[in-house]
Amino acid sequence: MGTYARQDIVFARGEGVWLETEAGERYLDFGSGIAVNALGHAHPRMIAALTEQAGKLWHTSNLYRVAGQERLAERLVAATFADRVFFCNSGAEACEGAIKAARRYHFVTGHPERWRIVTCSGSFHGRTLATLAAAGNPKYLEGFGPETPGFDHVPYGDLDAVAAVIGPETAAVMIEPVQGEGGVNVGSADYLRGLRTLCDDAGILLVLDEVQTGVGRSGKLFSHEWADIAPDIMAVAKGIGGGFPLGAVLATEAAAQGLTPGTHGSTFGGNPLAMAVGDAVLDVVLAPGFLEGVQQKALRLRQGLARLQDQFPGLVTEVRGQGLLSGIKVAVAPADVVAAARAERVLVVGAGDGVVRILPPLIVADHEISEGIERLSRALAQISKSKT
Ligand code: PLP
Repeated sequence: MGTYARQDIVFARGEGVWLETEAGERYLDFGSGIAVNALGHAHPRMIAALTEQAGKLWHTSNLYRVAGQERLAERLVAATFADRVFFCNSGAEACEGAIKAARRYHFVTGHPERWRIVTCSGSFHGRTLATLAAAGNPKYLEGFGPETPGFDHVPYGDLDAVAAVIGPETAAVMIEPVQGEGGVNVGSADYLRGLRTLCDDAGILLVLDEVQTGVGRSGKLFSHEWADIAPDIMAVAKGIGGGFPLGAVLATEAAAQGLTPGTHGSTFGGNPLAMAVGDAVLDVVLAPGFLEGVQQKALRLRQGLARLQDQFPGLVTEVRGQGLLSGIKVAVAPADVVAAARAERVLVVGAGDGVVRILPPLIVADHEISEGIERLSRALAQISKSKT
């Protein structure tokens, strides 16, 4: 179906941060399939995990215990605030699960009237009917019938607006700690702490969508760790599977209590293949020093992007980001920069608010960052030239 405005390029293989077409043209992948390929392409550990599992068992369904689910859930619980994990297959599904968990929590604790969720304009939570309504972007909602009710939108970063809208029907506040699709808008530590306090004071749940920020992308395992807070519920996907479709809802014991047998489910969720890959991703991301390495690389990348801003002040107007989720605000259409970068064989990704996202795999090497900055510099020079 015609759902995508695709760029006319086909990749045949990948290795590390590089993608190659059938004709052998090599591209530096600074988009990571939109923050998915955390370990780059064809990571030996992921290949080994997937192929080993593929020879053993693919699918049994959630009618039975799944050893890989138990192992991966235990590791996620050990590494995070969470006590409980539900596995699914995508970010939208993880956000849906998070919304359902939040509503059911109030239902089973004697407050069925609490079902509304405070969300932010400029958010992105996926393309299902409820997650579209949660984000409230009119462009994505048009023509799909009545909007799923129950979401109260406030501007991102505005604590007073959240406080003003919380009422007796509010179940939760749900936000991205950094708005990715919205244009790499970084929620400050004060904002996140303020939200935590507001939720605690109102007896409602804090739900974080860490689909894009999670699993090392922010330089911490999860972005909320920068603010030293913990959510009650968290949606995870993208990087956790490193390219294999995998999502998860993480929650505290209390917040997960509404999701009793029969209340939620997924045929493929927690599939043994996905679990093997998720386990391999965690092996690498949780290895001592890995996240510190991501932070150092992020600093190097940010410095490189700041140099681009110095070089092209009329074109690059701002550098934003957290960890390796970074963006430049540009004075032209982001798609023009994406196209110019592609011509220089470096892949980057457009976002809202006039921003181009630069999201290399977490395993990117220093010299590859330098190479990427050089290619971006040439791309921006081309655009500058064509504008004068
Ligand atoms: N939430 C966030 C923050 C995202 O960035 C995305 C995808 O870009 C989603 C949810 C939806 O994920 P998926 O496309 O896997 O459904």
